[in-house]
Amino acid sequence: KNANLFSLIEANFPTDLSAPCLKMPQGTGFINEYSWDDLQKASAKIANLLTSLELPKGSRIAVQVEKSPEALILYLATLRAGFIFIPLNTAYQTAEMRYFIQDAQPAVVVCSPKNFGWLAQLAFQLGCSHVFTLDDKLPNQGSLLQRAAPLSSQFQTVQCEPDQIASIIYTSGTTGLSKGAMLSHQNLSANALTLQKTWHWQASDVLLHSLPLFHVHGLFISSNVALISGSTMIFLPKFDAAQVLKFLPESTVFMGVPTYYVRLLEQAGLTEQLCSTVRVFISGSAPLLAETFNAFQQRTAKTILERYGMSETNIISSNPYDGERLSNTVGQALPDVRIRIVNNEGQTCAEDEVGDIQVKGPNVFKGYWNRPEKTTQEFTKDGFFKTGDLGKLDKNAYLSIIGRSKDLIISGGYNIYPKEIELVLDALPGVVESAVIGLPHADFGEAVCAVLVCNMTLDSAQIIATLKNQIANFKVPKKIFMVKELPRNNMGKVQKNVLRDQYKESFS
Ligand code: ATP
Ligand code: MG
Repeated sequence: KNANLFSLIEANFPTDLSAPCLKMPQGTGFINEYSWDDLQKASAKIANLLTSLELPKGSRIAVQVEKSPEALILYLATLRAGFIFIPLNTAYQTAEMRYFIQDAQPAVVVCSPKNFGWLAQLAFQLGCSHVFTLDDKLPNQGSLLQRAAPLSSQFQTVQCEPDQIASIIYTSGTTGLSKGAMLSHQNLSANALTLQKTWHWQASDVLLHSLPLFHVHGLFISSNVALISGSTMIFLPKFDAAQVLKFLPESTVFMGVPTYYVRLLEQAGLTEQLCSTVRVFISGSAPLLAETFNAFQQRTAKTILERYGMSETNIISSNPYDGERLSNTVGQALPDVRIRIVNNEGQTCAEDEVGDIQVKGPNVFKGYWNRPEKTTQEFTKDGFFKTGDLGKLDKNAYLSIIGRSKDLIISGGYNIYPKEIELVLDALPGVVESAVIGLPHADFGEAVCAVLVCNMTLDSAQIIATLKNQIANFKVPKKIFMVKELPRNNMGKVQKNVLRDQYKESFS
């Protein structure tokens, strides 16, 4: 049996290959509709091109292009040809691209035509042998598709072992330098199959896809599940709240980061009626505020399903499809995933006790690219992966994320979990959201501080006084900073390192 993820996708093509696979909206209708037959042929042509380059086994194909159906097809072609797909954030400039190309040592780089000049020069300098362009604006433009066009539309998908690496995904770099997570064909297939069952995917589903393709969320969690289910994707070039509203009535599934839901709620057009065909709204990549969860439920009568995942593991846990979906939790472990919470002594925590989240399962990656020591460090002796997140399991085995272990504040010898204080702050009238951080302090080591976004004028001293009645004194922020918005990356993750840096001299 061929463990190549594309073989799994191909085995589940709908019987009618002329059915739509990818739809790109334009104006009131759709252009660029790829049927399954088109998808198979277009990916075969690119796979033939990649094969014709006679690259060594295990070669990496690094791709920094705007989102388009062709970009997704390039991903599939890379799988088919047995090479390793590396998507890179389109926001990256010279310094970042130098780091990633140096680290990944790709044989091929595919970029947007507008970046060809500087990027090709950089790539060749760093030992890459081929640079192609892929244009998202003009269909069939750019050297990649031009070179592939005359090639055969037949391609025998390359035979893969389950552990063969399909993709290297660079982590978001929220806690430090981005690391390349090596995901095997089996990692991806196993997770896609589990999610298909858990979230009840059918060939009749239509996924409204508005996520970027350079993270696991947009590339694997959404696309792979739709592809192995023979479902249609409406492929938006990027998230745009008005566009999403327009196509929700033609969709059955929507996936997004919490910020997308906040933006959708700002639209008056978001109504129960508009969402009536959508059977599930899924959120992840960053914590979803209870307020957003509740407001969305009130407005649309839909309960957002929150799940938890990361580059190294794809999805770990999910709120139930049929059972009770709760805010401030990320649900239960997927059926084939084991989650345990471990304290500083390495013992399994009791119910509701906070500790390090560790996971094991067929979804867990093969290690960090080029970082064998880091890989060894992040696995326990009995093969669990240390996620770097803190959490707790309740009596029904629902997991709550309390934050990242790197964000844990140690003040005057006490362990303080920012999330606990953030929940109290967020509940205060006038507070929209909060980020609690530890800042260097001569006496305490770290001092608890809060950065707040408010929708009315609030007095810091008053907030501090209020909090003193609600939580232990050592947890109460020593200083409060008011800001218009919290710094976030494009996956909606709050950049606490930016805040810590900005306010680092507050006590000096
Ligand atoms: P880096 O590892 O480089 O510091 P990162 O961990 O942010 O960056 P990703 O792999 O993209 O990179 O993100 C995974 C992280 O996102 C998880 O470890 C977790 O902290 C967070 N996350 C994902 N889903 C949720 C969720 N539903 N609620 C809270 N946090 C979440
Ligand atoms: Mg991480």
